[in-house]
Amino acid sequence: MDYDQILELLKKFRDQRGWTKFHNLKDLAISTNLEASEVLEIFQWRDANKPLNATEKKHLQDELADTMIYLIYMFDKLGVDPGDAIKEKVQYNQSRHWPKIDQK
Ligand SMILES: [Mg+2]
Repeated sequence: MDYDQILELLKKFRDQRGWTKFHNLKDLAISTNLEASEVLEIFQWRDANKPLNATEKKHLQDELADTMIYLIYMFDKLGVDPGDAIKEKVQYNQSRHWPKIDQK
């Protein structure tokens, strides 16, 4: 599934439920962080060397998707393509952190 298909799926899900009115940047930012906290909760008090079992992997997958869904709604609200934003940020990071690589 490419990004345009994902965005269409998410917008359809949101619009079918009349949730567009709740999707302002502030509330989307809060929701993004709440979902990211659910990712953290999976690892709270857990031995970092203990592998995840199948159920825990599925739980992590679901919470990562929840987090990404809100990020996608935020990028859409900004009118920014996430791929462009990531590319731009990586180029900036490469120019800033050792070893510095000029991408021009
Ligand atoms: Mg969740």
